[in-house]
Amino acid sequence: MVTSGNVAFGCDVHTHTIFSRHAYSTIGECVAVARERGLELLGSCDHYSRMISPTLHVRDYQHFINFSVWPRVWDGVWVMHGAEADIVDLDGHLFGWDLMCQKGITGAKLTQPITLKDMVWRSIDYAVASIHDATFARGASLTQTTNMYVRALEDPKVLILGHLGRSGVPADLDVVLLAAKEHHKLIEINEHSFQEHYGERIGLACRRIAERCAELGVMIATSTDAHIAHEVGRFDAVSALLEEIHFPQELVATRDAKTFLGVLEEAVGACA
Ligand SMILES: [Zn+2]
Ligand SMILES: [Zn+2]
Repeated sequence: MVTSGNVAFGCDVHTHTIFSRHAYSTIGECVAVARERGLELLGSCDHYSRMISPTLHVRDYQHFINFSVWPRVWDGVWVMHGAEADIVDLDGHLFGWDLMCQKGITGAKLTQPITLKDMVWRSIDYAVASIHDATFARGASLTQTTNMYVRALEDPKVLILGHLGRSGVPADLDVVLLAAKEHHKLIEINEHSFQEHYGERIGLACRRIAERCAELGVMIATSTDAHIAHEVGRFDAVSALLEEIHFPQELVATRDAKTFLGVLEEAVGACA
């Protein structure tokens, strides 16, 4: 178990593999580092968005639909099947919701056409909903952007709202956080957001989000958003922040695997 002061970091629930294309390690390498650092649970959440391919063909996303070959417990580490899905419009839709697949990965016609999102959704444990391209929200009102986040949180497979502090789309923070609480979903506190190149403003936004989660009793997910194996399980900035603001341990859903798996079950149950 990785601990820092009062805060435990038993899980890293948002990490990337080479499948994300701008990340550099295999799932096996990530699991090995997770094990070395004493993590109980690793969530692999590659980008599920236009970043993967401009062709938007099911073959470009097949990584997500063969997760069952991964050992669920791999060298003693629980391995979760995730996706970091882009929010793509002001209705809070997630990538692939409007891409109808007529054929499967072999090229054979499907008996029942299905959206790409549904195809991916049926094989993942959870999604992290994030924004990487905020251009669709330019000029939108705060009511629109707030509703967008709330709608995304209402999706049954969305467990975590990803790196809200650097989404580039402002919203009414309390409404979003309380919607997460109502739907038993989690607000991410993301190690990557504290990297120097994002600047102090982003760090302060993340701090404000964490403080409000503590005040409103909203559960958080801590993650590294590692894009290379050696970042897995390293929570230097997040642990310093949570210590400093005396963040209550009971609101950290990722403190150990048992808690995270319980929260996941509750969230999916709440949406069923
Ligand atoms: Zn990325
Ligand atoms: Zn990510």
